[in-house]
Amino acid sequence: MTTYEVTLNKDPCDGIFACLTRDPRFVEADDGLATIDPDADPIYDGGGEVHEEDGRVVATFDDDRIEEAKQAAAACPTNAIVVEEVEE
Ligand code: SF4
Repeated sequence: MTTYEVTLNKDPCDGIFACLTRDPRFVEADDGLATIDPDADPIYDGGGEVHEEDGRVVATFDDDRIEEAKQAAAACPTNAIVVEEVEE
């Protein structure tokens, strides 16, 4: 298990949705941009906490899926997603 924080910056996000296909926790929000919804994944219910602040969506997870989040971040053409491990 790894504790990590996923930050999605709304400003650079361009609604290209490359992230969605890498990690199903990324979803399209009402504004046409991406957001993070841990409950959006029908297969895996891992919990996680999400809050929005200053145009950013910040999610904290404690699971084995950091690689998926990193792949979503790497796939994002505008580098809107940042994944950081959190020290316990
Ligand atoms: S891939 Fe990047 S730009 Fe595209 S929707 Fe996801 S976060 Fe936004």
